[in-house]
Amino acid sequence: MSIDLRELYQELILDHNRRPRNFGKLPDQTAQAQGHNPLCGDTVVVHLLEKDGVVEDIKFEGVGCAISTASASLMTEAVKGKTHREAEELFLKFQAMVTAADQPAEDDESMGSLQALAGVRDHPVRIKCATLSWHALHAALQGGEALVSTE
Ligand code: ZN
Repeated sequence: MSIDLRELYQELILDHNRRPRNFGKLPDQTAQAQGHNPLCGDTVVVHLLEKDGVVEDIKFEGVGCAISTASASLMTEAVKGKTHREAEELFLKFQAMVTAADQPAEDDESMGSLQALAGVRDHPVRIKCATLSWHALHAALQGGEALVSTE
């Protein structure tokens, strides 16, 4: 990855940490799930409004490190408007990207701004921070009210 791109990604993460998108409650939610990462102390609650198999709206709340907050913020932007299946596919792709189980993620344009988090693969202790909100999303898509732990 070029230096410029890396700096751009760092800016994006810092920006989403400072001003999280889709932060708050969702009164008409159809499911919610909570995630906890004891390793870092991150907690996140994902509120989901699903209608006719489409993620109509999604919000999150929680307290965590910059990576977990930015990841949750980017996640809500990425899955809003997607179908149930697309959201689940994105969850798997994101997981593969940050655990480096897949091809170099920098080359996967379909990941959009989520690529900003590809760098956590070089910091194993941060992987759980980045995937926490996605695990909560997955649980919410499965019906919700679950408490997921990264441990
Ligand atoms: Zn964290």
